[in-house]
Amino acid sequence: MMILTTVNLVARFTRRLVIGVGEEISNKIFVPGANSGRFAPSIYDYAKAIDPSLTLSHWDSWQGTPDALIGIGPIQFDAPFSVTINSDGWLAELSDRSDLEYTSNSLNPIGAQAAATLAAAEVFKEVLRRLGSDNLAVKKRISNIRFSTLDLTANKENPPNPELPSKIRFGDAYLVGAGAVGSSLVYSMRYVEGLSGRLTAIDFDVVDSTNLNRYLTAGRADVGRPKVEVVSDFLRGSEVSVSASRKSYETFVKDTPHRPLSLIISTVDNNQAREHIQSDLPRGVLHGATHEQTFVISRHDFINGACLGCLFFRKPKTYSEQIADETGILLPEVELALETNGPFTAGHLTSMVEKRGVLRDKYLKSIGRPFKEVYAREICGTLSIQVGERAEAATASFVSSMPGILLMGEILKESVPELRDYRLSNYFQMSMFSPDANKPFFRQKDPRCVCMCGDSIMVDAYRRKWSS
Ligand SMILES: [Zn+2]
Repeated sequence: MMILTTVNLVARFTRRLVIGVGEEISNKIFVPGANSGRFAPSIYDYAKAIDPSLTLSHWDSWQGTPDALIGIGPIQFDAPFSVTINSDGWLAELSDRSDLEYTSNSLNPIGAQAAATLAAAEVFKEVLRRLGSDNLAVKKRISNIRFSTLDLTANKENPPNPELPSKIRFGDAYLVGAGAVGSSLVYSMRYVEGLSGRLTAIDFDVVDSTNLNRYLTAGRADVGRPKVEVVSDFLRGSEVSVSASRKSYETFVKDTPHRPLSLIISTVDNNQAREHIQSDLPRGVLHGATHEQTFVISRHDFINGACLGCLFFRKPKTYSEQIADETGILLPEVELALETNGPFTAGHLTSMVEKRGVLRDKYLKSIGRPFKEVYAREICGTLSIQVGERAEAATASFVSSMPGILLMGEILKESVPELRDYRLSNYFQMSMFSPDANKPFFRQKDPRCVCMCGDSIMVDAYRRKWSS
C-alpha cells in the first residue's frame, strides 16, 4: 500500500523515477490496469499509465540521476537525500534516517496511505530546495513524525490504534465533487478490506490533462472522460456499489428530490454549492478543500458548532476578482480581457511574476494567445513551483491526497460504533510542509452564516428531519 501510493503521488511531479521492488514479490493488492501476478511489473505499468512520458528505470539498471527513487525493503543506495516511511494501522511514520524497520499486519490502509503522502511532500520540498526556495517551511526537513490519522495528532506517546473490524458498512454516502480530494477519497476507499456501502458520485465535469497532477484515480488515458466515471471504474471489484451522476449538485437534487442525504462528502470548490449542500440539511457533512500547500477537513452535524455555511460566509468573489487575486493582474485589465476576449500579454505575465513569483519562462509562449484560454488551461489550478522570496507551492498531488485519505478515515469512524468517539470535532487544518504542527480544533457557529444554523427554526427543521 505504501509503495503503490508513493509511486502514485511521486509519478505526478517527477520526470525520472527509479523503482526498487523485488522481482519475485507477488502482487497482493489491486494495481489498476495490472496484468501481472507480480508486483514489480505491475507497478512499472501503473506508473507509466499515470504519465507515459516518465523516464522509468528498474532498480538494478538505472543510470544518471533520477528525481526520485522509491524502494521497498533493505535497499542499499547512496543518495544525498532520503526519507523512510512505515505504518501501523492508523499510524503513519516518517524518518530522515533508515530506522523504521518494523512490520505491521494491520489491514487498515489509512496509515500507510498517509505515510506515503508525508513522504511525497518531503520529496517535493527537496525539489523546491534544489530550485533555491527560501520558504522557511520548505527549508525545514521533518526528521521524525508519527502522525495518527485516528485522532489527527502527531508524535503523541502511546497513541490509540484500534483494529478495524473485518466487515464495515457505511450505508449511503454522497460524494459531491469527484476532483482532486474526491478522487483521493475514492482511491483510499478502494483499499479498505471488507468495506461495503452505496456511494453516489456527483460531478458534471470531465478529466482535463492539467488534473493529472492531483487525481489519484486518473491516468493519461482518462483525459476527456467524465470524472464520475473514472472514480466509479476505480471502485469496480470492491464491495462498494457506485452510482455515477454526471450533473451539478443543484441538478442532481432537482432530479432526485426525495433523497434523505444521510452523509454528504463535499469536495466542491465553490461556496454556492457548499451553501446549497448544507441548506439541504444532510444528517452529516464531511468537507475537504485545499489551498496551496494547506488543506482543511471538517465534519458538521448542523447542531453542534460551525456548519459548512459558517466556514464560507464571505461574499463570494466574482470570476474576474478571483483571477485578479490569484494572478496579481489588475481587476480592470482582467475584466477587459474577459469581456473583449483579448490576449494574454507580456504585461499580464510581468504582474504574475511580481505577485506570485512564477517562473517567467513557463508562460512566455502563452503571450498573444486568448487570455481566457491561457487562464483556464495553464494558470488556473496548476502546479506553480515558486522560487524566491514568496516561495510557495500550489496544489500538488500530496496536498489533495491527505484530506481524501483522512475523510475516508472519518467515514470509517462514522461507520464503526467503537470508533465514533474518535470522529473529528469539527475542524482540522494542516500544511503539508509542516505536518507536525497541527491539531484539530472546535469552531463555533458564525452568526453571519448564510445557512442560519444558529436559528431555532432551522435547528428544529434539522431535528425533525432526523429524529426518527
Ligand atoms: Zn452555520
